[in-house]
Amino acid sequence: SSFSELGLSEDIVRAVSEQGYISPTPIQQQAIPAVIRGGDLLAGAQTGTGKTAGFTLPILQRLASTTTSKDKVTRRVIRVLVLTPTRELAAQVQENIALYSKYLPLNSGVIFGGVGINPQIKLLKHGVDILVATPGRLLDHHQQGTIDLRHIEILVLDEADRMLDMGFIHDIKKILAILPTKRQNLLFSATFSDDIKALADRLLNNPAMIEV
Ligand code: AMP
Repeated sequence: SSFSELGLSEDIVRAVSEQGYISPTPIQQQAIPAVIRGGDLLAGAQTGTGKTAGFTLPILQRLASTTTSKDKVTRRVIRVLVLTPTRELAAQVQENIALYSKYLPLNSGVIFGGVGINPQIKLLKHGVDILVATPGRLLDHHQQGTIDLRHIEILVLDEADRMLDMGFIHDIKKILAILPTKRQNLLFSATFSDDIKALADRLLNNPAMIEV
């Protein structure tokens, strides 16, 4: 099927076509309708499968369908949080979101460690709808009171297995304890160790499961 048959709006399909994507990859075929439906998702997918568009496109669709122009003026809160293990991946995911959302009244930002915190504080003050972050720096902002996580509707854990390998489980648990409990959760992982299964059990509520 085509991107529009999967339920994506014209504004998103146009941005995707401009990237030269002709048809959805297998993970996108499965993930896009599942995420648009609003339930939790457990996805087994390696890098290179198109997984990033697989979660970002339907997230944009959900946000765009519940954003009015009034929201744009009066309210810019973080509604989506994407956690990644590394700054490189965080930057890459946010770049993709920016490309796919170019015709939507939504903005995105990225925060990660190893760089100055002040430009990030400025970004957060300005406001973003979608934030991509590495776990440690996100918690730094929370501890400093420079981030408002009370409006998160969707949480994505991207490359969750790498996050656990890098020792982020405690940070992830702290973050989960801060977030609103009523939200949509998406977990992407290339491998499924017992630790990942335990995390998925804890995080996900009756998830759709896809594997490519
Ligand atoms: P990812 O697995 O998310 O790292 O994506 C791997 C690469 O595939 C990226 O360079 C994407 O821009 C590209 N890509 C994602 N979806 C499609 C698609 N439907 N058609 C062609 N290329 C795609």
